Amino acid sequence: MNADAMRDSFDYDTYWWIIERLSRTNRPLRFADLAGGFPTTPFFILRHDVDYSPAAALDLADQEARRGVHSTYFLLLNGLYYNMLSPEHASFGRRLAAMGHEVGLHYDVKFLAAFPRQQWRDLIRMQATLLGKLSGKRVTAIAMHQPGLNGEDPMRHTGQYMNAYDDRFYRDIPYFSDSCRAWWNPAWEMLTSGHTPPRFQLALHPINWAEHDRDRETIFETLHSNLAQTVESAGDELLRRIAEHRGVLQHQARAARR
Ligand SMILES: [Zn+2]
Repeated sequence: MNADAMRDSFDYDTYWWIIERLSRTNRPLRFADLAGGFPTTPFFILRHDVDYSPAAALDLADQEARRGVHSTYFLLLNGLYYNMLSPEHASFGRRLAAMGHEVGLHYDVKFLAAFPRQQWRDLIRMQATLLGKLSGKRVTAIAMHQPGLNGEDPMRHTGQYMNAYDDRFYRDIPYFSDSCRAWWNPAWEMLTSGHTPPRFQLALHPINWAEHDRDRETIFETLHSNLAQTVESAGDELLRRIAEHRGVLQHQARAARR
């Protein structure tokens, strides 16, 4: 792609145009790489929040691994769209870890709000421990889900884990995000100008990116229709198996005799 004609779109070509451009001056790092402090050489934290689609995350994670890029994927244990304890996604965390990516905890403060505040640290620890068991690697980084909608993160600066919204990762260094499949003006300016800050956090969402650019409506229509299809086929399969259940057959035979 022509460096002067970068498209403001969300396809893989653009993704790699951005990452390769940034990587010329700054090394992409995971939160885990910063456990001992910041390196003196330029870097950026490459972070992905998996809000909706493990499949989209694995696709991007695979591309990154093949290009030698390792990033942090924050996974939800209690999202509406995927269940880490379902057989379908049981290996999701392990697969990311096997590719050299870091698995961190993405947490929903609305879930915490259902409990007294003195239990929140414990609830975070419980989720991080479970996610660590699922991915085979201890979780050391956490990030709040939907900060734009849920307000200030109550778990900042607890010292419990590296928190993506602690000042050192969020306020002391620039923060750029593709939230809502849109770049704020300063982010777009930074990505296209070539004036890359020495350290910054880049927070992305795999659902936004695909082989071909899609608008927001299409992304969610596809996501929802795939989910509806999964639920519908699971329902069909369940009904089929129930119809063969011996108790059901006996019940029906009795009903037929009445
Ligand atoms: Zn999120």
